[in-house]
Amino acid sequence: MQTVDRLIKTFVPEHYQLSLSHDRIGRTFAGTVTIKGASVLGADKIVLHAKELAIQSVTFDGKQADFSLDDQQMTITHPDIAEGMHVVVIGFSGIITDGMHGLYPCYYEHDGIKKELLATQFESHHAREVFPCIDEPEAKASFDVTLSTEQGVVVLGNMPIKDQRVENELLVTTFDTTPRMSSYLLAWVVGELQKKSAKTKSGVEVNIYATPAQTPESLDFALDIATRGIEFFDEYFDVPYPLPKSDHVALPDFSSGSMENWGLITYREIALLTDPKTGSLQTRQQAALTITHELSHQWFGNLVTMKWWNDLWLNESFANMMEYVCVDALEPDWNIWLDQATYEVVQALRRDSLEGVQAIQTEVHHPDEISTIFDPSIVYAKGGRLLRMLQTYIGDKTLQAGLKIYFKKYAYQNTEANELWECLSEASGQDIGLLMNTWISQSGYPVLSVSEEGEQIHLSQEQFFIGPHAVSEKQWSIPLGASDKNIPRLLTEKTLTVERSSDLPLIINHDSTAHFITHYTPSLLAKLIGALATLSDIDRLKLLNEQALLAQASLISSAALVPLLGYYKDESVEAVWDIMLVALNELKKFVEDDPALEQKLRVYAGNLAQKQFDRLGWEAKPSEPESDTKLRSVVVGLMIYSEQPDVLAKAQALYDTIALEDMDPNIRNTIIATAVRYATDQKIIDDLLDAHQKTSSSELKEDIAAAITATKDPEVVERLLVILKDPTIVRPQDFMRWFIWLLRNRYSRVATWQWGRDNWHWMEETFGGDKSYDAFPRYVALCLMTPAQLEEYKAFFNPLRDQVALKRNIELGILELSSKIEHIARDDAAVRKALLEL
Ligand SMILES: [Zn+2]
Repeated sequence: MQTVDRLIKTFVPEHYQLSLSHDRIGRTFAGTVTIKGASVLGADKIVLHAKELAIQSVTFDGKQADFSLDDQQMTITHPDIAEGMHVVVIGFSGIITDGMHGLYPCYYEHDGIKKELLATQFESHHAREVFPCIDEPEAKASFDVTLSTEQGVVVLGNMPIKDQRVENELLVTTFDTTPRMSSYLLAWVVGELQKKSAKTKSGVEVNIYATPAQTPESLDFALDIATRGIEFFDEYFDVPYPLPKSDHVALPDFSSGSMENWGLITYREIALLTDPKTGSLQTRQQAALTITHELSHQWFGNLVTMKWWNDLWLNESFANMMEYVCVDALEPDWNIWLDQATYEVVQALRRDSLEGVQAIQTEVHHPDEISTIFDPSIVYAKGGRLLRMLQTYIGDKTLQAGLKIYFKKYAYQNTEANELWECLSEASGQDIGLLMNTWISQSGYPVLSVSEEGEQIHLSQEQFFIGPHAVSEKQWSIPLGASDKNIPRLLTEKTLTVERSSDLPLIINHDSTAHFITHYTPSLLAKLIGALATLSDIDRLKLLNEQALLAQASLISSAALVPLLGYYKDESVEAVWDIMLVALNELKKFVEDDPALEQKLRVYAGNLAQKQFDRLGWEAKPSEPESDTKLRSVVVGLMIYSEQPDVLAKAQALYDTIALEDMDPNIRNTIIATAVRYATDQKIIDDLLDAHQKTSSSELKEDIAAAITATKDPEVVERLLVILKDPTIVRPQDFMRWFIWLLRNRYSRVATWQWGRDNWHWMEETFGGDKSYDAFPRYVALCLMTPAQLEEYKAFFNPLRDQVALKRNIELGILELSSKIEHIARDDAAVRKALLEL
């Protein structure tokens, strides 16, 4: 790929004065930007980023200047341009479009009236769609922003309001000057908003905003977490929150989950708001993780920023770890590291096992490449896991000390990854770069084979793969986390033999803090299984997840999962049950086309869940631990999968007698989905679509969507496939979920896959500019199952490989799908036998 010039090499902005007037109804904006900055030696023109803007006027140091425009930038020429400080003034205008980037409208309805907000999304390189600027993270400058809008609205910017008045019937709002910051972190929101406020101990004002369509109570939880989150980071980083206020705004239309704009964090509604009545514990925990993730960016990412996008992984990996560190401190009862071990770790280990997946640190030549390289399972999940590995290895106090050095040294500046390693090396007295570089620069991870021979323990590492791959010579420095004290902390060789110090069951990678898996010999594994009840929660779930991965890689047979699951029947920890579901889902692949065999698996799943189901029942007890509330949703789901008639009847009765808004939100999606699956006519779909349109709770909306896409009725499937293209029902931000749910449902898979191919052009046109676009081939591959579908997948996607955004995910998709098909063929007979013998 061609490298794009970095504009900061010729012109370094210092200060922007931006005035922008919005015509929401006419869908246009117009403004003036005054940029003060320095031309470097030899520069004879000034080049700025500008995309889809019309330029009305340009002056250079007060004199009219010439300019030209191309796709991404504008070039200003004047005979007086030379090294030194200059002032450029540009008059420009542009169009407000629905793409959810740049400046865009968000739609909602309140009391039957259709309303709109205006919001911005500038990461990664969309500021240039709203005003001419040097739109690169390294081009830090201060900003004075003045916005003219309609009257009667709330206007929010990165900084507090300095002055607000009415001029020519427009509301004119001027904000305080920002500190030095990158253009991608600039933001504003305009519209009718309600708010709740609090102050941190150090006096920072925290505000939660939402449209008036939301219940006021749904802002309370976010306010509490955001306030305490800032107080936590103030202390943890030992550098005070850098701005006077911290706004958090829930937007009805939002492309990703949330965005860390400095002082003005934006979210999709479900990521911030949690109504105490209609919100589940799961959503509350997810919101806490999202809020604290974005808060950690206010320091790591915003105060200190990567020089270029190739180090964005560092921002995201760091925030991905810090969200768990912070939530664990704020809500210790949640045991949130268990969620990291199930959600993040499981996806990182799965994705990182494919040949051709990228390393965390990868070259990015142009921002358009970012979405293709920043795979969430790698950059967020794996990266967060690696930093957790580092935190465990050097200790939390040392990590904090190193971060303090880092923030003090680089505040308001830009860095590269090695500058963080240097600060951490200084704090720890160890060479952190040496430890981390093999993990950051190499894709994949090792499987550690562990065997015993008398008193000797043999360890050997090699790269772990699922699916076809070439021979790998890669090696890692592995923090072993072994229970036997004779085994060293770090394995730096390929193989190692040590004399064991005791006969106790040998645990490697205790609490799964390092990024590798262990393949024990059957005798070592048997000892661990015998001691299952004595292992930590994370060690129990790790053991099962590792066996599921080894099965997918053909290092053991999938049939071994059947008896192994039996040892977990007394399990009472929800996170471990999540991995039991992972293992059960592995087995589901083998039974889909065989009703008798599937019945065996259904009964088995019911038997596993029965004990906890008897304990927990359908209804939450007033003072039950929150872990039981979460476990109930898993166990009820499994009981419904078992298709026991009394269980199905009870679910139907709950659906028939309780209004959607009054259902226990923790099991609501399962109950609605059950009613949908076993319905005899389409009235339920009419009712649910109606409720979906009427509710302002994004969580209830999502539960309804998940339920109706679980239908078994081909006529409903046809109907839903038509709805997919109706943005008044399926919001563009939610399209991907609906599409994937329909693909995942075996009763709608074939029709949806055909629909996807027939409507690809529409999908490309609608989502092509979006970060999520590259995920389509990935999710399709995860949902398809058969050799014929693999051929269809290749026939359809291979010609699309010339699109940079899709290439990698198409190649990985083919690998993923073909290895799944091989795996099913290989283990089919053995799994069948194991299930029939139950
Ligand atoms: Zn982030």
